[in-house]
Amino acid sequence: GNKLFTNVPKDVWTLTGEIAGKAKADPKNANREIISLGQGFFSYAPPQFLIDAANKAMSSNPLNNQYAPTRGDLQLIDSLKNYYNQFYQKNLTNENILVTTGANEAILACLIGILNPNEEVIVLEPFFDQYISNIKIPQGKIKYVTIHPPKNLSEGKHTGNDWKINYDELEAAINEKTKILIINTPHNPIGKVFTKEELIKIGDICYKHNVKIISDEVYEQLYFDDSLKFPRIATLDPKYADITLTVGSFGKAFCATGYRVGYIISENAELLKYAASAHTRICFSTPHPPQIACAESLNLASKNSYFEDMRNEYDGKFQKLMKTFDALNISYTIPQGTYFIIADFSKLKVPFDTYHFPEDIASKPRDFKLCYWLAVEMGIITIPTTEFFTEETISNDKTGIEYLLRFAVCKTDDYIDKACERLLELK
Ligand code: GLN
Repeated sequence: GNKLFTNVPKDVWTLTGEIAGKAKADPKNANREIISLGQGFFSYAPPQFLIDAANKAMSSNPLNNQYAPTRGDLQLIDSLKNYYNQFYQKNLTNENILVTTGANEAILACLIGILNPNEEVIVLEPFFDQYISNIKIPQGKIKYVTIHPPKNLSEGKHTGNDWKINYDELEAAINEKTKILIINTPHNPIGKVFTKEELIKIGDICYKHNVKIISDEVYEQLYFDDSLKFPRIATLDPKYADITLTVGSFGKAFCATGYRVGYIISENAELLKYAASAHTRICFSTPHPPQIACAESLNLASKNSYFEDMRNEYDGKFQKLMKTFDALNISYTIPQGTYFIIADFSKLKVPFDTYHFPEDIASKPRDFKLCYWLAVEMGIITIPTTEFFTEETISNDKTGIEYLLRFAVCKTDDYIDKACERLLELK
């Protein structure tokens, strides 16, 4: 049959999971642990206050184990209002918040709620892969606008600012069918944080053409420039607030990606209603105990230095990895945010033509082969980044995106140390 998700290549998360399995089974790794810096999940426990709050939520009131209100547990909606009121110009009310089953469902609910078949969505490339299927489910069409990589990607160090949008290209991609633009900041996988100036340009173009914005800000707590506040597009201008749905996630904020608690905030309650109607039909409501745990944890974290401490910890983890890349003469984009770093492995001598790659890897771009080789030969799991680009971009590329691997640092310091030690063997 002509189903949306049959006969399509395996997604990168499944594929790298299988690669990890093959690496583990390989005799070369018999005496060492497989180090996973691939998918962005944590190698350590969430903070104890979150676990305590989750346990308490389940045992203190039997009703906490029953359906949560479809728009979210009221305690959590209150916490979100209290927390986000510091950023928003309007005083947020319950109608401005929707709790979702992870950020992925948040984005899906926005798209199902707002898009009519054949309407278009602007996706900035590279993109988080889930956006694509989330747009296809309500039969939307995708227009890609490139975040242009720095020209000398394989030399020296870059920052997120070296990855740039061309605003003429953005405007040219818009037509009467364009309904939505999705932006991700801090950006997975580049680690770019869009500046206020960039967001104003994007916001103005969207406002002018009546395009709504989904701003995926799930890594908002992981923003490493202490001198500036993390720029949120919805808070920069009331015009943008009115067209924007901002998506957040507790998985990242509280190191608990398995809780699947995300949310949408919009000053435009009417717009959010569409997403809320879709959310009711997608999953009815979000698991209840983790919502209560997140509510209490957010109240607590906003009164102490939890988020700041977390940022400092990540800074240390990134430093370790960047020092290792420097020693190996590997160029990379210095992360301004997220827990990811992308690095260029074009100098790694992998025998692409003679090495035995399994069939599903052999047909893929070189980053998949680099990923496979690093997994089997070194016991290190990474994410090949061409998964976040279109085939057209990959085949026309002259900057070397085919050699970029993504490393996740949401791991203990010991774990990162082990990874660095292992990587240094490549010297
Ligand atoms: N956000 C996670 C990452 O980029 C992946 C989530 C998922 O598997 N869909 O690693």
